[in-house]
Amino acid sequence: MLRAAFTFQPGSQLVRMFTLLLVAALPLLGACDKLTVRAKTAFNADSALSYTRAQVAFGPRVPGTAGAVKAGDWIVAMMKQRADTVIEQRWKHRTAGGDSVPMRNILARFRPQATQRVLYVTHWDTRPMADADPVLGNRHTPILGANDGASGVGLFVALGDALKKTPPNIGVDLLFVDGEDYGQSFDAPYADVLIGSQYFASHLPSADYKPMFGVLWDMIADADLNIMQEAKSVQSAPEVVNRVWQKAKDMGYDKYFIPQVGQDVTDDHVPFLEKGFRMIDVIDLDYGPLGPDGQAHPNYHHTLGDTMEHISAKSLQIVGDVALGLITDS
Ligand SMILES: [Zn+2]
Repeated sequence: MLRAAFTFQPGSQLVRMFTLLLVAALPLLGACDKLTVRAKTAFNADSALSYTRAQVAFGPRVPGTAGAVKAGDWIVAMMKQRADTVIEQRWKHRTAGGDSVPMRNILARFRPQATQRVLYVTHWDTRPMADADPVLGNRHTPILGANDGASGVGLFVALGDALKKTPPNIGVDLLFVDGEDYGQSFDAPYADVLIGSQYFASHLPSADYKPMFGVLWDMIADADLNIMQEAKSVQSAPEVVNRVWQKAKDMGYDKYFIPQVGQDVTDDHVPFLEKGFRMIDVIDLDYGPLGPDGQAHPNYHHTLGDTMEHISAKSLQIVGDVALGLITDS
């Protein structure tokens, strides 16, 4: 009766042995999850995480606030140390409610004369209100935006480190846009959201500005990283989606860059797509641990839970490798 020999009897030596093994293995299982992946490029995720933390330390970066001024100045200073040219666009945005709000886009250029170029975009502002917070009393409080606002900045400054050390063969533009998350509604005509990307798309660096392809990087550092293919991107620039997901697969990152079409997201790529740019949105909208239904529970997106403890260097390494790999192989 071989099978009977393995029947668990409460209190049996076998059960005690299994319990001991399980208890001994649990910390190891936990540790496995926290291990950083082995870098596939020169991208340094620890630096990216420290740049992300520096952004968060300025507090909320809501347009028109002291935190935004400090953070914007910091981005300009960091990119002047790394890029060949840094261009600022400053203007006043008139809101639907009639307010005038100062805005600032920052464009860091590598090999500005090169005609063959790649454009990367991220937003650096943070949402003025945690309107998805589970606590009703928190919903008018500005978010810290560790993932939604700071992670893309951390990614770009660390890309700057790598591109300064080894200049790219093609031109690279890293664009930090303002006012992505400012307004309540993300419905067309996008009156008070996507402000910086709309402004840039109609105030290009030159009349003939035409990057080979563009990628928007948004919410890319969730510790529980799972990036689906954003639906508008698949519809409007499928060849760019293929290029990015193929690069991730080549690097062994297909567990994180999932080759499935996900949600349709209104984001900073939309004004570019409307102007004919080939641009996609790389975004992990399920910000938090995934439940059996495939959705994040809790989801920290647009809540006061969007803090440093919910993002990771491991995720920044994965996304940074893909972002840098796309440049070095183009
Ligand atoms: Zn947001």
